[in-house]
Amino acid sequence: MLDTSRARKPTCQEDLEFALVQMKSETLNKVNDALVRLESGNYGNCFDCGEEIAEKRLRALPFAVRCKIARRPRRPPSSASVSSPPGAARARSS
Ligand SMILES: [Zn+2]
Repeated sequence: MLDTSRARKPTCQEDLEFALVQMKSETLNKVNDALVRLESGNYGNCFDCGEEIAEKRLRALPFAVRCKIARRPRRPPSSASVSSPPGAARARSS
């Protein structure tokens, strides 16, 4: 059973909708990709190692393409964005 209905176009709240549409388009790409793999019989196989993705994982993330969550390298937070130095807000009494 395939749901072929398309996402509706937003009609109001453009700023919020714009952000949502961006998210949706990314998700839609993944869903479309999953559908392509579903049709070609590759759905549920890991993109990296080709093994079957666990059903539990597929239920949580239907368009998962890998058997494991790809880890992204974390960047250290930039330390140059301190808005107020410590002690600056302290009132002088003399
Ligand atoms: Zn894998």
